[in-house]
Amino acid sequence: MNTTSTIPDFTHVGFIGLGMMGMPMVENLTRTGGLDVVAHDALDTHRATLQGWSAWGRHLHWAESLEGLARCGLVITMLPNSGITNGVVARLLPLLARGAVVVDMGSSNPADTQALANDAAARGIEFVDAPVSGSVAKARTGELSIMLGGSDAAIERIDAVMRRMGSKLIRTGAVGSAHAMKALNNYVYAAGLLAMAEAVTVASKAGLDLDVFASVLNASSGRNVATETKLTQFVIPRTFNGGFQLRLQAKDIATARELASRCGVRTPQMVLCEDLWRQAVQTLEPGADNTTIVRFIENLA
Ligand code: NAD
Repeated sequence: MNTTSTIPDFTHVGFIGLGMMGMPMVENLTRTGGLDVVAHDALDTHRATLQGWSAWGRHLHWAESLEGLARCGLVITMLPNSGITNGVVARLLPLLARGAVVVDMGSSNPADTQALANDAAARGIEFVDAPVSGSVAKARTGELSIMLGGSDAAIERIDAVMRRMGSKLIRTGAVGSAHAMKALNNYVYAAGLLAMAEAVTVASKAGLDLDVFASVLNASSGRNVATETKLTQFVIPRTFNGGFQLRLQAKDIATARELASRCGVRTPQMVLCEDLWRQAVQTLEPGADNTTIVRFIENLA
């Protein structure tokens, strides 16, 4: 069905992708009334989780297929990668009304994002890239940092909805700019994780006290998010369950490296980092958390 003649309804919000991040984000969208949220995921089992929430059947509904989102003025995607997002958005755009806004909150490739924005514009639909930072913990508390690329008009239109999920909203410029910055941020994060993984493996072999070592790092110039949260919460206790998959982290570094190549910038450490994370994806179990990069380094040792 093509509904391009209808007026988009911005209180009807579609949400596609209820994984580690999407599920708590939808919970925050529906915690209070005012929005009618229609959720969709390829995995029908996620529906059972939503059915346990008080919003279910009142202002939270399930769509078996993308056709169930046709009435939404705003549709959010929170999918694993650009390949999947591209396929979903291509099927979604013909269903939406002119004037609707599609917001990709996943960490996608900025070149793909710009292409999707062009396809959307040809149908009178706005496209915004709005990747997030803060991991599952901040998704749960609604305190994500949200980077926003797109037109001022579209970003203003979605502002109230974004503020239900994030506490820090940063406009990055034209569409695609947010995904570019997110990929570069995640490269810096991955480099820090890798350095931490090597340092903690050496510290362990040297017989150092790991709790004391974490305190030293976090009171010193080696401090970063890998040492402050991942080391203390998931690596030293060896739970390795931070909620961000290693393969998604590797995808982000590959995106950053591809961007660097397109810009003609030589980034030898980024190339090395990409290669090591790719090897880790190949050797660790599918679905492994990004903190298991420590196990990858231990296995090398
Ligand atoms: P995830 O794998 O846990 O969830 C992805 C969801 O998408 C799954 O529920 C899956 O069933 C669904 N899906 C896959 N293909 C689909 C399709 N064709 N149609 C409908 N649904 C489909 O991933 P996640 O950890 O929630 O990450 C989502 C995005 O957010 C990724 O781009 C990731 O890089 C980014 N991100 C993740 C974190 C984190 O800490 N997990 C933090 C910031 C950004």
